[in-house]
Amino acid sequence: MLTTRLPGHVEPYKLAARDEHLEGLMALDAFARLTEAVGPQQGDVEVWLDFTIDAQGRRVIQGRLRAELQLPCRRCLTPMAQRVESEFLLGMVTSDALAAELPSTHEPVLVENEQLNLLTVVEDELILSLPQVVYHDEADCAVSRDQLTSGEEAAASAAPASSPFDVLRHLKGKS
Ligand SMILES: [Zn+2]
Repeated sequence: MLTTRLPGHVEPYKLAARDEHLEGLMALDAFARLTEAVGPQQGDVEVWLDFTIDAQGRRVIQGRLRAELQLPCRRCLTPMAQRVESEFLLGMVTSDALAAELPSTHEPVLVENEQLNLLTVVEDELILSLPQVVYHDEADCAVSRDQLTSGEEAAASAAPASSPFDVLRHLKGKS
């Protein structure tokens, strides 16, 4: 189990030159964009990173992350625990133009002034690894299928009466 904390920034060229391995935790509540996408999170993401210079001379990071997130059920919107895991291969670039030269197997990460924002990198990977939709099992969900079906029927039968076109027709008929 990981116990150390990862820094928010690292010097990736030095780490790559030394073939360094970094591993540690980052607090999930530090990721504002993740919170915006799926709601507030607690706990940590576990991250493993291998920095190296590959055979083509590219500075790369091979990474893996794992977290337990609270994602809203698409049906009842109640958060449910969901394990998220991801592996990724990053190529360091110093400009957007250089990113285009990377092979498609590598995701570009921008290194500015020899600094890499690890917080941004890990948050990007977390967001990319989110499942499209999550549902409770029907038995556990606050909204059962029956409720959902009758709700839809109710909405369908109520719709014509409240249609603005009906109101308009009604007014025209009177004048
Ligand atoms: Zn649900």
